[in-house]
Amino acid sequence: MTQKSSVAAKANPFEIAQAQLDKAAQKLGLDPAVHAVLREPLRELHVSLPVKMDDGTVKVFKGFRVQYNDARGPNKGGIRFHPEETIDTVRALAAWMTWKCAVVDIPLGGGKGGIICNPKEMSEAELERLSRAYIDQVGRILGPEKDIPAPDVYTTPQIMAWMMDEYSKITGYNAPGVITGKPLAVGGSEGRGDATARGGAYTVREAAKHLNIDLSKATVAIQGFGNAGQYAATLFSSLLGCKIVAVSDTKGGVYSEDGIDAEAIVRHKLINGSVIGFPGTRPISNEDLLELSVDVLVPAALESVITGENAERIRAKIICELANGPTTPEADEILYKNNVFVIPDFLANAGGVTVSYFEWVQNITNFYWDEEDIHAKLDKKMTKAFHDVLAMSLDYKVDMRTAAYMVSIQRVAEAMKLRGWV
Ligand code: NAD
Repeated sequence: MTQKSSVAAKANPFEIAQAQLDKAAQKLGLDPAVHAVLREPLRELHVSLPVKMDDGTVKVFKGFRVQYNDARGPNKGGIRFHPEETIDTVRALAAWMTWKCAVVDIPLGGGKGGIICNPKEMSEAELERLSRAYIDQVGRILGPEKDIPAPDVYTTPQIMAWMMDEYSKITGYNAPGVITGKPLAVGGSEGRGDATARGGAYTVREAAKHLNIDLSKATVAIQGFGNAGQYAATLFSSLLGCKIVAVSDTKGGVYSEDGIDAEAIVRHKLINGSVIGFPGTRPISNEDLLELSVDVLVPAALESVITGENAERIRAKIICELANGPTTPEADEILYKNNVFVIPDFLANAGGVTVSYFEWVQNITNFYWDEEDIHAKLDKKMTKAFHDVLAMSLDYKVDMRTAAYMVSIQRVAEAMKLRGWV
């Protein structure tokens, strides 16, 4: 965390999100009124959450919900539990959700929530009380037709189930469509668990075709080994045939040039709490992992890890950004100059929200699809989105991130104009 914290102190994620928007707006010659609306969230709610702790004391947690733009449909975006959560991180993530829903062309806007807390130091009962307290405060601006949260860093399907239950108690009827990423037994969708990494794998498959890279001979390094990182390890090896050579988590990383058995290291992490010490590997720091000479680098932890300071040393051919905001604008320029093909976060990790959208559709229609259906529908959405962005990037001779912004901004701007907002 030391390296991450020092980087985060320099880079404000919301300023990064605004700078990325500004760059694309300039390329598009965007109407200044549309640009001004898109630079700020439309609405945000700050709450204080008193929670009874197991020792009888009351602790007050700070929470946020940001609704960035709902021109294309109800707001959609996860809730993070993190000790270093800030309102600017939540704003940036809400902006990225707006672009993400637009790039995969699903009829939803962008939102995000967060609570400043350290779930690793809290009991299950305390987490449940905190989750319910958040809905008691924020539930008034949520709803299947208004704003639909989902899991994100350190929030789980169980937390989604508690939140859905609390919301249903307030409304007086069962409302599974208020939140996605729920367990299957309470209205979750088949295929949601691995959707983010699976969607990323589909975009890497398409990128490799474009770049003429043989994925069956490709090597992969993954930073972060939670939901996104673990499924990236298993799916990039099983679906794409790649060799996973390095993975890491908060405690550090492991490397093996002979390859790491993805299923086995997932089990190792489950048993030991970390990837550290996996047999047949040697230790590698989070910083060095990013600079490995691999075909595909997958940042799947937190934001601002590829910066102006280390971008020159990145040797990957493709970066598949499963994490939100892992690359700073300064690093983007360097990577583009060095021909590193970046699949930008809100395209690469859009599989999660796409299957969340499928979950919401299933909840509100009360008709459920099987896993095969979900995978086929996800593949179609991700493949189309990748090629929409690639075409924009080739047409305008811009990097893939700017191209993704341009595709999304055009779609959100059109909706705002048709609604008569601008
Ligand atoms: P998670 O809580 O399941 O896992 C986070 C992982 O990152 C953990 O393994 C943790 O050890 C590691 N980590 C944290 N700080 C780190 C650091 N400084 N260095 C190295 N590793 C570190 O979270 P997740 O759901 O896998 O999310 C990871 C990223 O992917 C986030 O940026 C999130 O916004 C993004 N994302 C997730 C989803 C999803 O569906 N889960 C969807 C879209 C985007």
